[in-house]
Amino acid sequence: MKNIKDLSFWTDMKRNKNCIRYLLGFFGLKRGKGCAYLILKTTITAVDAVISLLYTIIPGLIINSLYDEIGYKTAAVYAAVLASIPLFNHLKEMTLRIKCSRLERELRRIFQAEFQSYIADMEYASLEDPNISMFTMMFSEHAPEAPFEMLDFIERLFSAVIRIFTISYIIIYMNPSVIALLIAAIAINSWVTKKLNEINHGYEMKQWRIEQRCQVAASNASSSKNGKETRIFGTKDFFIECYAKVARERNDLFRENMRIDGKWRTVHTVTSALQTAFLYAVAVVKVIAGTLAVGSMTIFISAAGQFSGTLSSIFNVYLEITSYTLDIEELMKFRSNATSKENSGERVPEYREDSVIEFHDVSFKYPGSDRYALRHLSIKLEANKKLSIVGENGSGKTTFIKLLTRLYLPTEGEITLDGVNIREFDPEKYQKLFAPVLQDFCLYTLPLSQNITFEEECDREKLKEALRKADIDNLAAKSAKGVDTYVGKSVDPEGFEPSGGEGQKIAIARAIYHDAPIYLLDEPTAALDPFAEYEIYKRFDEMITNRGAVLVTHRMSAVKLAENIAVFHDGNIIEYGTHSELYAKGGIYTEMFDKQAEFYRES
Ligand code: ADP
Repeated sequence: MKNIKDLSFWTDMKRNKNCIRYLLGFFGLKRGKGCAYLILKTTITAVDAVISLLYTIIPGLIINSLYDEIGYKTAAVYAAVLASIPLFNHLKEMTLRIKCSRLERELRRIFQAEFQSYIADMEYASLEDPNISMFTMMFSEHAPEAPFEMLDFIERLFSAVIRIFTISYIIIYMNPSVIALLIAAIAINSWVTKKLNEINHGYEMKQWRIEQRCQVAASNASSSKNGKETRIFGTKDFFIECYAKVARERNDLFRENMRIDGKWRTVHTVTSALQTAFLYAVAVVKVIAGTLAVGSMTIFISAAGQFSGTLSSIFNVYLEITSYTLDIEELMKFRSNATSKENSGERVPEYREDSVIEFHDVSFKYPGSDRYALRHLSIKLEANKKLSIVGENGSGKTTFIKLLTRLYLPTEGEITLDGVNIREFDPEKYQKLFAPVLQDFCLYTLPLSQNITFEEECDREKLKEALRKADIDNLAAKSAKGVDTYVGKSVDPEGFEPSGGEGQKIAIARAIYHDAPIYLLDEPTAALDPFAEYEIYKRFDEMITNRGAVLVTHRMSAVKLAENIAVFHDGNIIEYGTHSELYAKGGIYTEMFDKQAEFYRES
């Protein structure tokens, strides 16, 4: 992260220009709603500037006209104008402002959706990067605000420029030397504001890092997911203390920032107080000397106050844009990270009856790790053939699945589909070749049907078939609203809480419904009872007819369901073949098979 101090004025200007261009693009001026919003905002700003000018001048004009003989008539007209301003203002608020707020809400929703889609498009590997997850947390709050804040700056600049011309005229007319004093005071205060920006920007970045740790600690302490273990292991005090420690660090950081911030704010306040005292002194001396009318004195004081406020707001807006630019640059980096799928092509994969996915001497290290999780791995996956993968924990089975599905790309070697490197395919289209049942499958707070189909209006017949094959048609039938019953009770009290096994069956039904050419089954029956597991495996062929499958499992009896078996060890395949070939070999596979069979027999 660049420090604001390193930026020269011209670099600032260039960065600001780039960021404004980026944000206006993001704001979508071409969209009808964006344009309408901009026009409304500008009109409201112009009207506000005129109203504030009338409030500056009219009270003084009333006082001055009372000194004339028939001035009371003029005073009455001025008073009537003054009295009608709130009515006019009210009309503006009820029409323009309400319309503008409605458009703003709608645009915020659009930006929020765009931001969510950046995250969904991001390379999976980025999601595991702690820096990216901090920015995701930071920008999911800030990103939708960014275009509005930038627009606010531009609007303030526009309004300030209109006012400064009118007010300068009034002040120069009354006392030109005061302008020099006002500019000096503004220069001091702008310098102080720049200092405050530097301090607060540095604080914000540190604060977000601590905030991220705080959230993790708070969720360890209170997440309902950990509820069972928290009670049984009695970890409450331990987790609460972990949270308290990070929270204390956060408070210390906040206190330190407040101390430094307070020091600079004092300088700001003292300068402003001196400026006000000086203005009054000049005005009073001029009134006593008879060179300024009493009414004009009020106009002078009010105009000088406005001049000072407006000119410093021009400086401040510039400084704020500069400081904000640093955040926007992070957002731009984040966005390019999110949208650039590393080395991704646009080809659309075609998967045929004779297609082959092949790993050619593939090695892989996780980002930031210096250990190989897979090493010199070569294997072919033929269409419509089933492969079982076995191996001890940490041998690389899940990593193999992650590479096969292009969640990660190989560090060395390549993976091809019919001879084409999978990097050349559009990742989303390539990933559609797979129907996964992962160990850590997700259940969503959605109706059962949508949990399986991810569609508002699904093919009911196809859904029924998937439910039957996954052996949960009974569950759907006995639920309060059938397939429209919510999974989980947080939204609908009539929802149902699925058991681990039921959840796993929902995940299996999901894969069946999506009916991709290759099923990926990572311990698909780990949570099922022996009857359900037996049922699922008995129907394995029916479930996966004319489809390929990769089955990762520790159940040696299920391994036999596949034509080929790969035994993983230390990131490589050490045995490969059919069940009978491998069993006859008397190697690790035989040992694993016999050990499990022996265990079942003994117990
Ligand atoms: P298996 O599925 O066979 O249990 P994995 O493929 O999950 O094994 O893990 C293979 C190796 O990669 C292990 O040494 C594991 O610690 C490491 N590993 C897995 N996930 C990550 C990750 N996200 N970052 C770094 N190392 C990882």
